Amino acid sequence: MKMYNKMFELHAQLLRAMSHPKRLEIIHLLRGKNLCVGEIQQKLDLPQANLSQHLMTLREAGIVVTERKGKNIFYKLSDKNFIEASDALREVLAKRYKDTELASELEKNMDELVPLTHDLVCGKRLCPKSANVTYKYNGKIYYFCSKACKEKFVEKPSKFLII
Ligand SMILES: [Zn+2]
Repeated sequence: MKMYNKMFELHAQLLRAMSHPKRLEIIHLLRGKNLCVGEIQQKLDLPQANLSQHLMTLREAGIVVTERKGKNIFYKLSDKNFIEASDALREVLAKRYKDTELASELEKNMDELVPLTHDLVCGKRLCPKSANVTYKYNGKIYYFCSKACKEKFVEKPSKFLII
C-alpha cells in the first residue's frame, strides 16, 4: 500500500513541475531539438531570471537535462514520453474546444506550431510564419519587421545576439 501511494505522490510531483504555461511551452520547444538558453529566451519572451527559474524547476524534476557543447549549454528532454503526455492532453482539449476558434490551433500537428519570435533589432514580436524579412546567420534564421531592421542586423549581428 505504501508503494502504491508513493507512486501517485511521485506522479503528482512530476505534474507539478510541468504545470505552468511557460514550462509546457519549453517542453514543446524542445520536441525534436536541443536548445541553449539564449535560443529558448528568444522564443519565449521572458526575462532571463524568470526563464532560469523555470529551467531549474524542469531540471530538478528530471524533465530536462543539460549537455555542454563547447561553451554553450544545451537543454533537452530527458524522455520523449513528456511530448506524448502533452499531446495526449491536448487531444482532450481539441475535443473539448471543437467548433471554437481555438480548435484549429489545438488540432494542428504540434511540430507545425510555431511560437512567436522577436525582431532582435527593434524588439517587436513576430510570427515566423508570416514574417517575410529573414536572414540566415550561422545556420539559424532570424526574422525582422522591416528591411531596415534586417540591414542593421546584417551589419553587425554580434551587437544583437544574446549569446
Ligand atoms: Zn524591426
